[in-house]
Amino acid sequence: MNDVLSSARVKTTGHYINGEETLQQDAPVIEVNSPLDGSVIGNVPVADGNLVRDAVNVAKNAFASWSEVPVKDRAQVLFRFKQLVENDLNALAELVSEENGKTHSESKAEIEKGLEVTEFATSLPQIYNQELLEVSRGVDCASRRYPLGVVAGITPFNFPAMVPLWMIPIAIGTGNTFIHKPSEQVPLTPNVLAEYLQRAGLPKGVYNIVHGDKTTVEALLDNNDIKAVGFVGSSAVAKLVYQKGTMAGKRVLALGGAKNHLVVMPDADADITAANVAASAYGCAGQRCMAASVLILVGNSDHILEKIIAEAQKIRAGINLGAVISPAAKQRIENYITRAEQNGADILVDGRNAFVKGKEQGNYVNPTIIAGVEPTNECACDEIFGPVLTVLRVGSLDEALAIENANPYGNAAAIYTTNGGTARYFSEKASAGMIGVNIGVPVPREPFSFGGWNSSRFGYGDITGMDGVRFWTNLKKITTKWTASAAKNWMS
Ligand code: NAD
Repeated sequence: MNDVLSSARVKTTGHYINGEETLQQDAPVIEVNSPLDGSVIGNVPVADGNLVRDAVNVAKNAFASWSEVPVKDRAQVLFRFKQLVENDLNALAELVSEENGKTHSESKAEIEKGLEVTEFATSLPQIYNQELLEVSRGVDCASRRYPLGVVAGITPFNFPAMVPLWMIPIAIGTGNTFIHKPSEQVPLTPNVLAEYLQRAGLPKGVYNIVHGDKTTVEALLDNNDIKAVGFVGSSAVAKLVYQKGTMAGKRVLALGGAKNHLVVMPDADADITAANVAASAYGCAGQRCMAASVLILVGNSDHILEKIIAEAQKIRAGINLGAVISPAAKQRIENYITRAEQNGADILVDGRNAFVKGKEQGNYVNPTIIAGVEPTNECACDEIFGPVLTVLRVGSLDEALAIENANPYGNAAAIYTTNGGTARYFSEKASAGMIGVNIGVPVPREPFSFGGWNSSRFGYGDITGMDGVRFWTNLKKITTKWTASAAKNWMS
């Protein structure tokens, strides 16, 4: 464990402003518990409007010089940052697991996904500001992107490293300065990322963290110097942040929750499908906005369901399944299972009362499969955000699509089939931003961008890839005439 990581586990995590950890006197703090065993691993302060204003002023000062650093030099900072994180991957993954509850391999994978966005941002010099056309004799039109100024990112608990890294590399790589409000449930990892950025040569004040809860978010939305806000979290909060932010004249992209449908055709490869469905539903204990939540069996696919049940039973809390974030989340998830049971559902696999020896205070729920409910049942409609899969049965692919299309969310939808025509039809008709064919977590890899549809997203565009570049910049069109001829034309 190196010094950056060991200092992350301090009594009270500081805000990170102008390259230094700082605390406000007498500010309220929130206890941070490890979902793995309930132990107290820190406290996180709640920033008020004054602290937010100080952080924004620092970021404003830093913007003047950072925005003028050539993009190739900004990209070099991101190269070095990526290398530093890779060198400490295992130790950083331990910290992510400790505060979030996911398994070590899941933590490593989420950091690596975040580094893929960093890698994309290191290519900004190659993909940025390269459009120029002679639009009339001697007249050139060029487009150039400019950073917005001070921008903010508000992130959820379920990916302490990856979701911040969807925003930070592209936002700062394009020349903005950044205020990050991490989830108060996982505040430790961002401070470590801040330290790596600084060691990579990022000037002070370019990336700042204000910790806190909704009070801090409101202070960010009220601050007129923040030009854009990227948000990732539940749909209810995403909508609020979008409405309040845009009313205040800010550019906002707010990604929300999800209810993802996996459709299994009778011709699907049973073994591959079963393993893949289970991985999608139970990876990260179901706390992924891309997790399978509803399994729609078309026709007679019972032989595949049997294999999915067998796969679910191989996944055990404390061994190859992590914890859910809090005792309240565990209770909420178990309540869904209990209410379904009371209303006559078949609990094909029951994950309640999970027990992990030596970690009795951890928040564990084992894989669960619920069947025998109507498509309108709360288990088939609500985002449960735990390791729970609800099974529906239909007679045709169109019936499956009608259920998928009717759900208000639209992050991911997937089909399992060996028929290319069926896969193509589903890909065209499903109402979601990310489609999987024989893949249950269809997260695009850069340069393809991440983003959902419908109530899984408020605002326009995706959060990563070229849409990320567009979101964090303004486009200027510069028309230039350098010609010896005095002839007039329509552009004179
Ligand atoms: P959340 O909405 O509770 O919190 C997200 C952020 O908003 C946190 O920083 C939190 O402090 C802040 N916040 C909470 N309540 C607020 C309020 N009333 N006003 C202002 N700010 C508030 O989400 P969460 O529980 O941390 O994360 C899980 C949710 O995030 C799930 O719904 C999941 O689907 C979603 N998520 C979506 C994506 C995506 O790409 N669409 C990715 C990851 C997570």
